[in-house]
Amino acid sequence: MLSKIACLLLVAAGLASAEDQRFQFERPLMGTRFAITCYGEDEAAAKKAAEDAFKVGEEINAIASDYLPDSELMKLKPGEATKVSPLFAELLDASFIKARETEGCFDPTLGPLTKLWRETRKTQKLPDPETLAKARASCGWQDAEWNGQTSTILLKKPGMQLDLGAIAKGFTADKMFAVMKDHGFPRSCVAAGGDLRMGDPPPGRTAWRVGLQTFDTEKPEEVVELVNCAVSTSGDLHQFVEIDGKRYSHIIDPKTGLGMTEHVAVSVIAPMGVIADALDTAGCVAGAEKAEAMGMKFGATRVVVRTASKH
Ligand code: AMP
Ligand code: MG
Repeated sequence: MLSKIACLLLVAAGLASAEDQRFQFERPLMGTRFAITCYGEDEAAAKKAAEDAFKVGEEINAIASDYLPDSELMKLKPGEATKVSPLFAELLDASFIKARETEGCFDPTLGPLTKLWRETRKTQKLPDPETLAKARASCGWQDAEWNGQTSTILLKKPGMQLDLGAIAKGFTADKMFAVMKDHGFPRSCVAAGGDLRMGDPPPGRTAWRVGLQTFDTEKPEEVVELVNCAVSTSGDLHQFVEIDGKRYSHIIDPKTGLGMTEHVAVSVIAPMGVIADALDTAGCVAGAEKAEAMGMKFGATRVVVRTASKH
């Protein structure tokens, strides 16, 4: 299923010379489509680079997915301090930094609540108050003890479970881009669904062109030109459930435990995908008034906030 396609890479055809061709590779990953666009001379080398990049993407998925029962994330047991792998440690480090900075608007411990949200989407029924209260009691980033020195995590509350869905794609796009660059393809863009990480511009151009689509409009609402950075958009463009005329987004409001009902879409441009991805979600939770200031304070170079009322 396509989780979000809110940043679209606009690729102009026919710009590359014969020596500098455009290659594209796609694969389903993390419940969405991942696409690598790169420019270079050698198709076989590009293919090999993309293959290695996807391998890293799959490795991160196998570590951090909350859909795979055997992932490193799903094997964490509340009450047991666990030393994690270096890649997972890097992702957890970034996650807990962003949780602290955003005061829990981005909260990596909402697993029990996102599980309920998925249930709600299936049944079209909100959870009963008791179930909701129980799930809420198992969440809270301040009750997860992450020690970056020892790479150890301790989930302190019974039933606690991580959900890194709001940051993992941006993190993965960064890692995959790094592989492309290491293989000699600095003119690459990795699209992890709607989370984009790009390097040097396509040949003959000064930037990558990215369309920002935040609500159901036919055309992107804005086209931005980007080089060596990342862009990520969050909002309820595709993932929501409507109950009794109210639209609950897949972004959980930690204050209520339910999906957000304020319709805001936030695009974040930042030097790294991991930053852009965490901050787009945090911005939606913080709300239209606060999203920009929060993003700019914690690593964004630009934040675009849109509310549904404008459409
Ligand atoms: P994104 O599309 O980047 O905003 O990520 C949304 C996903 O992150 C959801 O599908 C949940 O798995 C998870 N999530 C939802 N709400 C939050 C939140 N407040 N903080 C962190 N992760 C969240
Ligand atoms: Mg996000």
